[in-house]
Amino acid sequence: MQIQLPEAVRWILNELQKHGQDAYAVGGCVRDTILGRSPQDWDITTSARPEQVKAIFKRTIDTGIQHGTVTVMVDHVGYEVTTYRIDGEYEDARHPKEVTFTSNLLEDLKRRDFTINAMAYNETTGLVDAFDGIGDLRRGIIRCVGNARERFGEDALRMLRAVRFAAQLGFTIEAETRTAIEELAGNLKKVSAERIQVELTKLLVSAHPDELRTLYQTGISAVILPEWDAMMETAQNHPHHCYSVGEHTIAALGEIRADKVLRYTMLLHDVAKPLCKTTDGKGIDHFYGHPQKGAELARKIMRRLKMDNATIDAVCGLIRVHDVNPKPERKAVRHAVYRAGLSDYKLLFEVKRADILAQSSYMQQEKLDYLRDYEQIYDAIVSERECISLKQLAIGGSDLIAAGMKPGPEIGRVLQKLLELVLDDPSMNTKEKLIGYTLKNLFI
Ligand code: ATP
Ligand code: MG
Repeated sequence: MQIQLPEAVRWILNELQKHGQDAYAVGGCVRDTILGRSPQDWDITTSARPEQVKAIFKRTIDTGIQHGTVTVMVDHVGYEVTTYRIDGEYEDARHPKEVTFTSNLLEDLKRRDFTINAMAYNETTGLVDAFDGIGDLRRGIIRCVGNARERFGEDALRMLRAVRFAAQLGFTIEAETRTAIEELAGNLKKVSAERIQVELTKLLVSAHPDELRTLYQTGISAVILPEWDAMMETAQNHPHHCYSVGEHTIAALGEIRADKVLRYTMLLHDVAKPLCKTTDGKGIDHFYGHPQKGAELARKIMRRLKMDNATIDAVCGLIRVHDVNPKPERKAVRHAVYRAGLSDYKLLFEVKRADILAQSSYMQQEKLDYLRDYEQIYDAIVSERECISLKQLAIGGSDLIAAGMKPGPEIGRVLQKLLELVLDDPSMNTKEKLIGYTLKNLFI
């Protein structure tokens, strides 16, 4: 097996070997290269101690010295170089209490999570694959290195990682590994929200977000995202729907681009439906108010997961308006755009389209036709620069003051009124007309 190493990686391995050390590319980069995927980053494992690595390379960063990791900079790109190590006993299924450095590559490979992540490569030795990672790559299987129960007992996050890799690679989790997850999923409550969020996000933006089903089936989501279990367990008896809330969500995720904001929006767009469900006299289910409630609940969930604020705001904004359907005419669309207050309104069309495509075929073509008209109207409004925000209004606060208004909160209220006027009638958006209107109607 031959692997094409990037020039910088060859150089680092070479320098280490020149100094009498062993060094290999290891883990995800080896796995991805064999699969013909481009690796996120190249990690290097070596017999050299951190001080030795720092002595050999000019530019290094102490990334995690106590765990043996030094980042070596080559042409402004960082490569993590980690000393062979054995992870000691794990505390609370979270962190290894201590790590021991070793001179034995095999010991280092043994501490890694899955067989497909436990392969190392350099040009002198070739591929080191002690646990048949290659076989599992061929078979498309996620399997723990060693005893699954023990490995998940050491670090509970590995259970979520198993599902994340299954989702990224389109692999199946091997039976014993899966059974161990079902047994130990509860331990995930001890894992930090940050680490969980990283893995959940990778799962969501992967080629197989439908692996969310596995999170439910194995009991993982009961611990990290119980709201998902409620969605999986909420039926929708309604002509517009053919799935439970959870299955509709999975279908919608499959209809939308692999973008973090869009995927989180689809995941959570109906998150409040289990809370908002009512059933009428004819046995039809309704979910009144679920977009607004959903935006609030989504914010709570994403805060809990330590998501960044920009993502939270974008996702919650989209969820809040995902069911708003203005009349397909310019005036109504301008008002809807202003009221939505989204930083990127175009995303809403992607969200709505995915949502429709994941509903029943009843009226589906009509819904798609409406959405196409709605988007064309929006595009025309933007390309003709019709005013849809305070920023685009032909006058600002200083113009009102120049016209004789006292500085103060009233200025904001007048600008708001003028904007409403311009949303109704874009031809009003000139300085002259707006000042004239203000003097005549707004009593300054
Ligand atoms: P990605 O493409 O997402 O970066 P990766 O396999 O490189 O995937 P990382 O989280 O970057 O995943 O970890 C790098 C390597 O470190 C893994 O391939 C694996 O060998 C090892 N590893 C990471 N996390 C764990 C863990 N929790 N338990 C055991 N080994 C781990
Ligand atoms: Mg990696």
